[in-house]
Amino acid sequence: FTDIAHPVAIGIDCAGHGASLPLASGRPDDWFASDGQITKRPVRALTLSALAPRPGELLWDIGAGSGSIGIEWLLAHPANRACAIEADPVRAARVRANALALGVDRLEVVIGIAADDLPEAPLPDAVFIGGGLSDALLETLWVRLPAGTRLVANAVTLESEALLARWYGQKGGSLLRIELADAAPLGNRHGWCARYPVVQWSVML
Ligand code: SAH
Repeated sequence: FTDIAHPVAIGIDCAGHGASLPLASGRPDDWFASDGQITKRPVRALTLSALAPRPGELLWDIGAGSGSIGIEWLLAHPANRACAIEADPVRAARVRANALALGVDRLEVVIGIAADDLPEAPLPDAVFIGGGLSDALLETLWVRLPAGTRLVANAVTLESEALLARWYGQKGGSLLRIELADAAPLGNRHGWCARYPVVQWSVML
């Protein structure tokens, strides 16, 4: 007896027998095809929290990689919009495929170099920089975007971290260092295996 009009009453898993996409941002990395260039789950969760999507808002995801940030922005609300800007055409195609696979085909994908190929319009409510961070890009954003636009930038290298520290000194906002470690086998016991630290700058233009 399988009456799917009453799935809970008779104990059928509402999500069916396939994998189901979790509701919270910071979904497992393997939901996104990637070549390794992906903001990993815990840092992605913190990044989405900092980006703080509200219904109907538009995000520019600059240096989109696998598209995971833009896609999670879209999954946050059906009215949300996002534009992914990615320099590498193979990755840009992967962004599009990931968006289709996860049901958010409204993700717009631009193959281009930040800051040269940013869309003219519409202007975003929030911007994430996951790749292509430079003085020129930040200067362009400050010239082109209205006050009140939210910006979040993640840095992994010493050079991009130094750049963020300088801009934080000039513009304020908040600078967060995310240091994570996973328990991993160490001989016949376990120890903490450190991940690369990520420095995250969040600021209002
Ligand atoms: N946030 C992404 C990972 C970003 S990896 C995710 O979660 O999947 C950084 C990406 O930035 C790479 O894919 C790289 O090709 C891209 N990139 C680097 N410089 C760029 C530039 N100037 N303009 C656009 N994309 C750039």
